[in-house]
Amino acid sequence: MRNGKMQATWRALKQYHGYNKKYFPLRFLQIAFEAISPYFNLWMSAEIVTALYEGRDKRAILTLVVITLVGNFAVRVLEALLNRTALTANHILKNNENLDFYAKTMSLDYDKLENPEIRTLRRRIQENTYINGYGVFWMKWQIERLMNAAVNVVFAAILFAEMLAQVATVPFHWMSTALLVGLIASLVLTILLGARSAKKIAAYNDEIGKAMLKENQYAQGYNPNGMDNRIYRQQEILSRLDEKLNREHLQLITQAYHKQFHLHIPCEILSKLTEVSSYLIICLYCSLGAFAVGSVIKYVGYLGRATQSISSIFQAISELRANNRFCETYLEYFDIPNDMYQGSLAVEKRSDKRFDIAFKDVSFRYPGSEQYALRHVNLDLNVGERLAVVGMNGSGKTTFIKLLCRLYDPTEGEIVMNDFNIRKYDYRQYLDIFSVVFQDYKLLAVPLGNNVASGANWDTEKAERLLREVGFGERYAEMPKGLETPLYKNFDEDGVLVSGGEAQKIALARALYKDAPFIILDEPTAALDPLAEAEIYAKFDAIVGDKTAIYISHRLSSCRFCDKIAVFDEGEIVQIGSHEELLRDESGKYYELWHAQAQYYT
Ligand code: ADP
Repeated sequence: MRNGKMQATWRALKQYHGYNKKYFPLRFLQIAFEAISPYFNLWMSAEIVTALYEGRDKRAILTLVVITLVGNFAVRVLEALLNRTALTANHILKNNENLDFYAKTMSLDYDKLENPEIRTLRRRIQENTYINGYGVFWMKWQIERLMNAAVNVVFAAILFAEMLAQVATVPFHWMSTALLVGLIASLVLTILLGARSAKKIAAYNDEIGKAMLKENQYAQGYNPNGMDNRIYRQQEILSRLDEKLNREHLQLITQAYHKQFHLHIPCEILSKLTEVSSYLIICLYCSLGAFAVGSVIKYVGYLGRATQSISSIFQAISELRANNRFCETYLEYFDIPNDMYQGSLAVEKRSDKRFDIAFKDVSFRYPGSEQYALRHVNLDLNVGERLAVVGMNGSGKTTFIKLLCRLYDPTEGEIVMNDFNIRKYDYRQYLDIFSVVFQDYKLLAVPLGNNVASGANWDTEKAERLLREVGFGERYAEMPKGLETPLYKNFDEDGVLVSGGEAQKIALARALYKDAPFIILDEPTAALDPLAEAEIYAKFDAIVGDKTAIYISHRLSSCRFCDKIAVFDEGEIVQIGSHEELLRDESGKYYELWHAQAQYYT
């Protein structure tokens, strides 16, 4: 993707500008104003010095002073106003950028979301941005620097022309030519050296960034509140690894700073040389009588700013070039394609919930994995049925659900709903027919009502009824703010902490609230105590109603009430039938599992 030294920067700039089209014009206005306003003071001080030098009367001098003061006040007020507007615009820009990045993440195909390479790319972008400041932030700041320098050059050039007109009135002097040649030479050298050092510094920082990525990975593994960390003293292992990486990292950073320091010395010397030459040229012309003493201040100011700005323009361009690689990384994320076929077939809204699903010889391998997680799965799911999926850990139960919900597409075979491959349906509409409580479900740190309804508003009567049905009634009665009670303390000090079992009940209520034709529960009672579990089973039929239910568990006793049990073993369905039918086959997996577990519940 590395074609063109600035291609990624241009693309990133266009995208960034799109986040708030007002931002760059506003900043330009602000920068132009900030750049021009010092000229007012330069100009006024020149007038005052000249007036003093020429011994003009006090009134004239006082008028000049008053104009300077009032002018300065007006400038400050305008500056403050522009600042405020630009700050708000910046806030909107950053916010929209974050939202877009988040939206990209949310729109990724699920397999991409889980893909370790893509996760690393995401972290690299975040670390480039927030730790090193590279990427779009750096681009933004260099563009602003360019704007600033360009405005300064244009403005200084106008005033410089005025100076040249006056210089032209005095006879040629060899010294001024020599000084001018010196000035131009040091300016060119500053620019060339600046470009070289920007490129080198960016390359060092990229290396540091990559090294830090590894270090931060360890830092993430280290959770200072983690109970395991304390009991097993994991911090010792982690901090030893961390120490080693830290040492390497420190070495890298020290080297980089050392090199940066050496790169900066010649640049600084040259920039001072430029400054001195410009002073000397102006003083020389003043002594030759080209202009008044007061103008020395003015012209030194203009010339200094002009030379600084010219080298700034070139520096910003080389910084942008060096930063291009970080923009490439940034855009690489937005360029990740979604390969999952997106169908457009509408999912009928059926009041009879008649959605029949069939797995037809479905096999599946996780991306990047050689092993099949599912093999030749054939299964019919009929409306209103209660299906239990049982099997040992790692036998493919959760994978089966992930395929059913189209988080992944089968590697071989097809899944069909009402005669059409599920790939043909509109993805969002297809997902709407499922309510799932995953094993690793997450609740949000927002009010209970929002959690249950999965939305901004909720139906109080329905939410409360469901919470009672799943056995959360007693705990709910203790909540003073009812459905308004915030969960967890992330955003609210009054938030309540819920136990694993309570959270699972809320997740169950959320699944029921969605009222989708399919309800899928993956080990839904794992965190519940035996009484709560028994309560859920007793009410299961009533809770599920006319929905098609899939119930996953490795505890066989909890599946007896289902119409049909599918037994998974090493990715295959080895048996299907009712509890009684399956138990009759003494050579079957179900018989073996049942008797292995029976000692716990007989
Ligand atoms: P179960 O739900 O029955 O415990 P899973 O469906 O979670 O089993 O896992 C089935 C197989 O797929 C296991 O061998 C597991 O290691 C593998 N597996 C699960 N998730 C992934 C994944 N994201 N990437 C690669 N392999 C996976």
